[in-house]
Amino acid sequence: MKHIFKCVKCSKYTMNETCECGTKTLLARPLKFIPDDKFATYKRKAKLNDYAKRGFL
Ligand SMILES: [Zn+2]
Repeated sequence: MKHIFKCVKCSKYTMNETCECGTKTLLARPLKFIPDDKFATYKRKAKLNDYAKRGFL
């Protein structure tokens, strides 16, 4: 799994240790620790649908 970094200056997420604005980025927590969980929930549902289609459920 790749690390996700976050720029403290422009709040952008990036794979690089330095943001495109030149600011050193900080290691961000995995997606599940980000308060807005809508995307993760959507991904879980999509996975369940995928399993259902393949007959795993
Ligand atoms: Zn930046």
